[in-house]
Amino acid sequence: MEDNNIVEFICKIPKAELHLHIEGTFEPELMFKIAERNHIKLKYQSVDELKAAYNFNNLQEFLDIYYIGSRVLKTEQDFYDLTMAYLTKASGQHIMHTEIFFDPQTHLENGVPFPVFFNGIYNAIMAAEKVLGIRVELIMCFLRHLDEASAFDTLEQSLPFKDKIIGIGLDSSEKGNPPEKFRRVFEKAVQYGFMPVAHAGEEGPVDYIHEALELLKIKRIDHGNRSKDDAHLLSKIALHKIPLTLCPLSNLKLQVVKDLKEHPLKHFLDNDIVATVNSDDPAYFGGYLNENIIAVQQALNLQKDDIIRLAKNSFEASFISAEQKKHYLGLVDAFVSEFKSH
Ligand SMILES: [Zn+2]
Repeated sequence: MEDNNIVEFICKIPKAELHLHIEGTFEPELMFKIAERNHIKLKYQSVDELKAAYNFNNLQEFLDIYYIGSRVLKTEQDFYDLTMAYLTKASGQHIMHTEIFFDPQTHLENGVPFPVFFNGIYNAIMAAEKVLGIRVELIMCFLRHLDEASAFDTLEQSLPFKDKIIGIGLDSSEKGNPPEKFRRVFEKAVQYGFMPVAHAGEEGPVDYIHEALELLKIKRIDHGNRSKDDAHLLSKIALHKIPLTLCPLSNLKLQVVKDLKEHPLKHFLDNDIVATVNSDDPAYFGGYLNENIIAVQQALNLQKDDIIRLAKNSFEASFISAEQKKHYLGLVDAFVSEFKSH
């Protein structure tokens, strides 16, 4: 397939996104607009100056700037605008279904009550489902650099909205914050009916992936790059079909890989892993989902069959029903045969 042709194929194939932090979709332009509306002065003078500051060396430096951005979000309207901006973008990239992470503790610490940010996000989802036809689920993440008591408190505050949240996750600084720290919170959340996922093996050691699987009983591994170093673990996650939500441009920007040519995605596909590609924090990492797939296709010389597999994996790995999966997999097949004939 010609280069142009495969780019078009990637852009138009129906797909799902499963690793996306809504706070990480905050584009500098919108951040400035909302800061102005809320009379908050940013320490950057212009959009360009802010963009220039997005030059991190590691996860912690990125998180520092990410939290500065989150502080301008105050009202329900702010969260609505943030969410609608992402969903509009996603829909334009032929994302049919997306499972969005949000970080309650970030907003609670900024003095925004749970119902304010939650209703802003949720109302945007309802509107987007109607207007754009995109399907959305929400996953609430605990910040792992905070303690267990804070996670428990967040879990309690989420209960009035329980039916609108499909799962719980674990994000923020991985090193020094092992999954074990949140074992009891996850146990309780699973009792409430939340689906558990967790970031593991991004910067942290492979042991954290084992812990997240065994102690937190996660159904999906966010990142999981380090499982490449453990053949036993790889065969286990292949056997149990535990998906990985990989984020190539994030890995590049945070120097988890030095070059996309070293990215383990192809290795995972060759080992029968349900690997998926996602954008993580696209406003900060230089690309939304299609840009991620294009970058990794070029670096790893992925073929059309790999792209089809990634699209199918994205639906297989999602938390939608078996019937819905069948529907979306059918859309992928229909797209592929139609693309062949044009
Ligand atoms: Zn992430």
